[in-house]
Amino acid sequence: MSRNILITGGAGFIGSHYARVLLEGHHDRLSVTVLDKLTYAGNAANLDEIRDCPGFRFVRGDICDASLVDDLVAAADEIVHFAAETHVDRSIASGAEFVRTNVLGTGTLLEAARRHGGRRFVHVSTDEVYGSIASGSWPESHPLRPSSPYSASKAASDLLALSYHTTYGLDVVVTRCCNNFGPRQYPEKIIPLFVTRLLAGRTVPLYGTGENTREWLHVEDHVDALERVRTRGRPGEIYNIGSGAELTNRALVAVLLELCDADWDRVEFVADRPGHDRRYSVDSTKIRTELGWTPRHDLRAALADTVDWYRKNDEWAA
Ligand code: NAD
Repeated sequence: MSRNILITGGAGFIGSHYARVLLEGHHDRLSVTVLDKLTYAGNAANLDEIRDCPGFRFVRGDICDASLVDDLVAAADEIVHFAAETHVDRSIASGAEFVRTNVLGTGTLLEAARRHGGRRFVHVSTDEVYGSIASGSWPESHPLRPSSPYSASKAASDLLALSYHTTYGLDVVVTRCCNNFGPRQYPEKIIPLFVTRLLAGRTVPLYGTGENTREWLHVEDHVDALERVRTRGRPGEIYNIGSGAELTNRALVAVLLELCDADWDRVEFVADRPGHDRRYSVDSTKIRTELGWTPRHDLRAALADTVDWYRKNDEWAA
């Protein structure tokens, strides 16, 4: 009998890649229900490739809608929870929607999972919950010190999810991944924003001096890690997911300029983001040793492929 996987936020960037991999790889064994509100960041067209697959169902709705969530969780065998407000700058402009969706919405899903019991709940989170680290890499046991309303709302939802394991024995697994890139990312995050603007002959705004450092992972490697966690992760555990491929924003922009045939005169240095974390780095030894995960994409080649995708899909520009 086929297992029904409820994917929240499956019309967004990472969730849509995950839904596609699940259905393309296992449509004989799995069915997929995507629950997505289609906010500005969600795009129903992200699911076009799997829309006609047997076992695929799309439900437009809000993870804060307790009655809808209850019905969908009742019909699901597992939940993989991506839905979130995700852009740090928007959270600095106004944090309310981040608290609502990321905290209340996660709580609504957890309550339904607790009521119905016996369901695996994969909570997809971010390295940003740890806050900035000057040197070395965070293990999963590191205390959370989030800096932005976005990362604070994600940290709150991580802790809430883990509390449902501790208190009710719910089969919760939490993942904390570094920055993703790849096709179909909404052009507000640095890579799709800069690439689409550079390809259109426009300037790009680089925060501060560009020394902020991030670890970059291709979205398909994140999906592979999540699938290992869904199928083999241990209940109540946290798994960091990191590539080890670190770049300052300045170094990243240098690569993007080269790939887009542009020069530094197209870069405008702008006032830094308030509370901008200097560096993130996760220690992903646990998922590598326990679940045999390793990223397959080379950063430079994957960035070149990603730029090609945005070049061929110029309607993606904001
Ligand atoms: P995204 O912004 O592209 O997609 C989010 C999706 O959630 C959208 O389709 C949106 O319509 C949907 N959504 C928002 N509010 C909703 C609500 N109230 N009810 C139902 N659906 C709602 O985000 P993404 O980059 O794909 O990130 C997915 C998850 O992965 C998030 O939880 C994020 O915190 C986490 N994450 C992202 C990254 C990254 O680099 N993008 C890295 C680590 C972790």
